[in-house]
Amino acid sequence: MTERLVSGKPREEDLPLDSSLRPRKLDEYVGQEKVKENLRIAMTAAQQRGEPLDHVLLYGPPGLGKTTLASVIAAEMGVNIKVTSGPAIERPGDMAAIITGLRPQDILFIDEIHRLGRVVEEVLYPAMEDFFLSWVMGKGLGARSINLKVPPFTLIGATTRYAMISAPLRNRFGMVYRLDFYDQDAIQALLRRSAAILGVQVQPDGVEEMARRARGTPRVANRLLKRVRDYAQVMANGVVTGELARDALSKLGIDPLGLDDVDHLVMRTLVEKFDGGPVGLETIAASISEEADTIMDVYEPYLMQLGFISRTPRGRVATRLAYEHLGLPYKGSAEAAQRTLWEAPEEHTP
Ligand code: ADP
Repeated sequence: MTERLVSGKPREEDLPLDSSLRPRKLDEYVGQEKVKENLRIAMTAAQQRGEPLDHVLLYGPPGLGKTTLASVIAAEMGVNIKVTSGPAIERPGDMAAIITGLRPQDILFIDEIHRLGRVVEEVLYPAMEDFFLSWVMGKGLGARSINLKVPPFTLIGATTRYAMISAPLRNRFGMVYRLDFYDQDAIQALLRRSAAILGVQVQPDGVEEMARRARGTPRVANRLLKRVRDYAQVMANGVVTGELARDALSKLGIDPLGLDDVDHLVMRTLVEKFDGGPVGLETIAASISEEADTIMDVYEPYLMQLGFISRTPRGRVATRLAYEHLGLPYKGSAEAAQRTLWEAPEEHTP
């Protein structure tokens, strides 16, 4: 399935946009007020003590600003940042090489940290705790164990899957923050900031229309702005009004809540093929030819945030709100129906 316009995952078209719109300082970083407040205190304290910042773990759906926040922290601390990702570090030696290349107080950012292999991850434990590296090089008789002191550094890990981080790794982070979907005010502020940088004229109702469809996700908001800007330039005089934004986005197949065809397909499958659930994630994935991981990372968090899908121990269930949004009569989930069937006789026993 093609990558979607409203997915929080990066697409190639985002790259030039990302670098111009990415905030550099904490004051420019919109929203996430609690996280910013805590980080400000921790950063000031570390700077006063002349120590590196404690290790930070950031988790939440893609596109919410984890990578951006890591680079903002580096800028605020006045240190370098080395950016890498879990799948890119294959061997313990690779991890050791990256860490020994850091300068004192530098930040090492590991995206998708839940995808680090176990032996690679184990190199991190003493490095995070005591700034000490210990790993075995080579195999069999020629194997040597190497022990090395490294400069103090800060590890910032990012993940969309908090549950997949092993306990020993999780416990070594001094700060763990969950990034939430942004509220409408924050997304509107972000859109106004991006529009100013890109030189797009936006009217307040234009901003509102885009914000409503941005799924509380900065990356999606910026992408929609870019599409609406093109539309305004070609179809109108370049000014983004409410009507223009609405037109442009509905032509792109995005409904008033920011849902696209694939979200609708997920909900319809749940409702029409499986009587509203409960049904396992893998089964939904197979029936729409999509990967279970993608559904879990990209589609489901926002549908859950809207209250359209709920997760139960026996699988996913479509809620009354989902039926209403699809314009279908609510019959209750299959599970609820079955429960009534079984429980009914008991209710009538005297
Ligand atoms: P993640 O790492 O969580 O997938 P990113 O940090 O890559 O997300 O953010 C995607 C884009 O959204 C960034 O390039 C940046 O332009 C924008 N962005 C993210 N968070 C914010 C924010 N709080 N304020 C302003 N722009 C943001």
